[in-house]
Amino acid sequence: MSLTFIIAVYNEEISLPGLVDAFEALWKKTGANVLFVNDGSTDGTLIALETLSQKFPRIGYIDLSRNFGKEQALAAGMSIVPPGHDVIVMDGDGQHTPQATQSLIAAIKADPAADIAFGIRAGRNYQSGFEKLFSKAFYKFTNMLLKRPLDDRLGDFFYARAGIVDTLKSFGDSKIFWKGVYNYIGYSRLEVPVDIAPRRAGKTKYPVFKRLSLAVDGIVWLSKAPLHIISILGVLISFLSFAFGFYIIAKWLLTGVAVPGFYTIIVLQAFGVGIVMLSLGVMALYLEVIFENTSKKPSFILTPRQNLPEWDGGSS
Ligand code: UDP
Ligand code: MG
Repeated sequence: MSLTFIIAVYNEEISLPGLVDAFEALWKKTGANVLFVNDGSTDGTLIALETLSQKFPRIGYIDLSRNFGKEQALAAGMSIVPPGHDVIVMDGDGQHTPQATQSLIAAIKADPAADIAFGIRAGRNYQSGFEKLFSKAFYKFTNMLLKRPLDDRLGDFFYARAGIVDTLKSFGDSKIFWKGVYNYIGYSRLEVPVDIAPRRAGKTKYPVFKRLSLAVDGIVWLSKAPLHIISILGVLISFLSFAFGFYIIAKWLLTGVAVPGFYTIIVLQAFGVGIVMLSLGVMALYLEVIFENTSKKPSFILTPRQNLPEWDGGSS
């Protein structure tokens, strides 16, 4: 069995040396390879990775041509790992500790039937009150739209057996949302409660607006419900304008009072908007399918700068 760690890093220059120090023993013990994905960092992360990869043959890195976001960085990492490797995905900021990682490894070793083990945060103490509230609200809203609820305790921290890694690699979406993927793939999974440490240095790369935009991407990735909602809205508005029109005509027939043109315009306007929204909704349903199946743009771009780990070995 060979094991590779995939760690996406974006401006983690300050965290990196501490991370490697903390994990060195575990990496050695497990005979693991480590693949860092530099996600277009603008600080000295790339230089730090070059230095590390020269010093430790088991540590390697690839470099993305710009910041593509953690979702794509993980996809890039997975695309490089050779077939047959188990994979551990974790953050590079120190929040996923060696102890927590050890728990994942122990859990999967203890259960041969398990395909994938997720580190589930036992507490959420490292998050601010606002973050907690935001996260809760997002999952509540999203789960109203989804058939299979998303688990908000689940992050990009897991141990996946080689077979599952192949499945994870097979998602060809040009915009991927990993939490959605974990939700989608099924498989026999373990949930291992782990403590998530505070960031080693620097600030989160996901401030509220970026998180919000990721959330919107996630909803679109996972659900066609928004499309259905606009279609329903179109039907409702059309229906209301019909009803209003009917009311005006009936009133005119019954009372003989001519309807002022003002109302007619409102009715026509509402009717028009209703029909347009209905059509847009229906078209968007198809556009979505066509778009997803035809987009050929690469979801990430690698630079020639890389130094891959020496993949061979691995623990038994
Ligand atoms: N990250 C990345 N690309 C980005 C943003 C973040 O590769 O555009 C990396 C980051 O360096 C870290 C991990 O993804 O290793 C998690 O990011 P962060 O700690 O900022 O997110 P949080 O833990 O606050 O959700
Ligand atoms: Mg973090």
